[in-house]
Amino acid sequence: MKTMLIFPPPASPTYVPAGLAALSAYVKINASEVPLVVMDMNIEAWHLLAKRQSEFERHVRYAQGQEGNFYDKKQYLDSLGAYAGLSAEMDSWWQSAKHYLESGKAESRFLSLLDALLEPAIAFQAELMGFSLLYPKQVVFGLALALRLREKLGDRRCRIVLGGAMMTALDTKELLAACPFVDDIVPGEGEEAFLALCQGRPTPANRPLPVENIPPPDFSFADLSQYFNPEPVLPVLFSRGCAWHRCRFCAHNFSYGHYRHKITAGFVEELKQLEEKQGARHFYFADQYLDEESLDRLADEILRQRLDIRFHAMGRPSKAYTRELLEKLHKAGCRWISWGVESGSQALLDKVDKGVDAGDLPRLIRDTHASGISNLLMLIFGLPGSTDADYEATVQLLEKTNDVVDAVTSSRFQLFDHTPFARHPEKWGLKVTGQEILFVRKGSSVHSFRLNHDGARADAELAQWEKFKLWTRGECLFERLGSEHYLLYADHQSR
Ligand code: SF4
Repeated sequence: MKTMLIFPPPASPTYVPAGLAALSAYVKINASEVPLVVMDMNIEAWHLLAKRQSEFERHVRYAQGQEGNFYDKKQYLDSLGAYAGLSAEMDSWWQSAKHYLESGKAESRFLSLLDALLEPAIAFQAELMGFSLLYPKQVVFGLALALRLREKLGDRRCRIVLGGAMMTALDTKELLAACPFVDDIVPGEGEEAFLALCQGRPTPANRPLPVENIPPPDFSFADLSQYFNPEPVLPVLFSRGCAWHRCRFCAHNFSYGHYRHKITAGFVEELKQLEEKQGARHFYFADQYLDEESLDRLADEILRQRLDIRFHAMGRPSKAYTRELLEKLHKAGCRWISWGVESGSQALLDKVDKGVDAGDLPRLIRDTHASGISNLLMLIFGLPGSTDADYEATVQLLEKTNDVVDAVTSSRFQLFDHTPFARHPEKWGLKVTGQEILFVRKGSSVHSFRLNHDGARADAELAQWEKFKLWTRGECLFERLGSEHYLLYADHQSR
């Protein structure tokens, strides 16, 4: 079946879609006869937008390293103004997509944009269109594209299928009822089901893909020079699922099945191939969480195979990260770790079941910095039962480590359905007041798994934090653009 795989907007223009790389690799290996076209419509959309104003075009050239100095912090900060303008335009397109999806009405200017994005799909005469949806906003835009496609094709048959992480973060029955122009939804790990669809077979029961059946990602669809990065950065996955799987707030655990990881030597060989074939030496380890044993083995293997690469990883800040391990990671090319710190309070860390010793965090953060690796602390405010003393413990952690923290991200606690916190909200002092509505179409609401609850505490903590943040060195410089920039900056700083 003539098949097209699409990554719709909006996502960061720095991100090369890993989902498309995984799915297309699986289809090519198992069904080389399937005519397959893979398209990152997100990056296409950003370029269409950028063409509208010379200031936007200048920003793209800057972010791609063709103009100015990407690594000059002042210039970088100045460039964020143009990026904010570009993002506001993308937001307004998204609003138009939502309006069109909900009402069937759109201005001709917006329809022309959809038509421009869909042109390659229509020219290819795809019989199967797969939309890979990673973020909530992509659901609305992807559906608007699908709706327009149906209108353009008329009686011509084309099966429309949705997949990706968002399909385990919303009510799929509601979505299918509200959007009859969608034929199928592939929740969870999509490789086997999508292959069956490409071959016109019935879809098998969803199951986690055995690790030996996961091929190396195929990024050949992507022109890496198009992304808003001065050097290519590729997202890669060593594992699927989370080895810890205990944090009570975490909704990441729905998209993949049980935890599995690749063979270490084979994975490092994949990185080597990507470096040789795609010219990428920066890798964003997009694993939900890489445990310290895996990172240790990966570092040994990278050093054994003598790869000259740089990488970022997400870590649970456990005591196992000794100075010795951190130094080895740096030697292997690790330049940035995003630590899931969440809070400086032991009581809250215990409450979320993080398995972290708050008293060890300053040592860990200092050792990371001393090893030459940049620290990003990911914090959550308004966790269930958070008190002034808990908030103060987080402030104190930052006061103790401010000189060695490179960036901080501050999130508001979100309650997701089916997480341990949501299973017994009353036990954690949470009162659920409703469920987030993604969109409403023909009288039917489509809900996400995000639950509404009293967020006054989170609002108060975040408001206070904003004042504190002003004088920390971790100024969240990169929060508005992609994570890829974290890694490039961290690498540049350590040169
Ligand atoms: S927050 Fe991270 S470490 Fe905790 S369960 Fe989720 S993915 Fe695993």
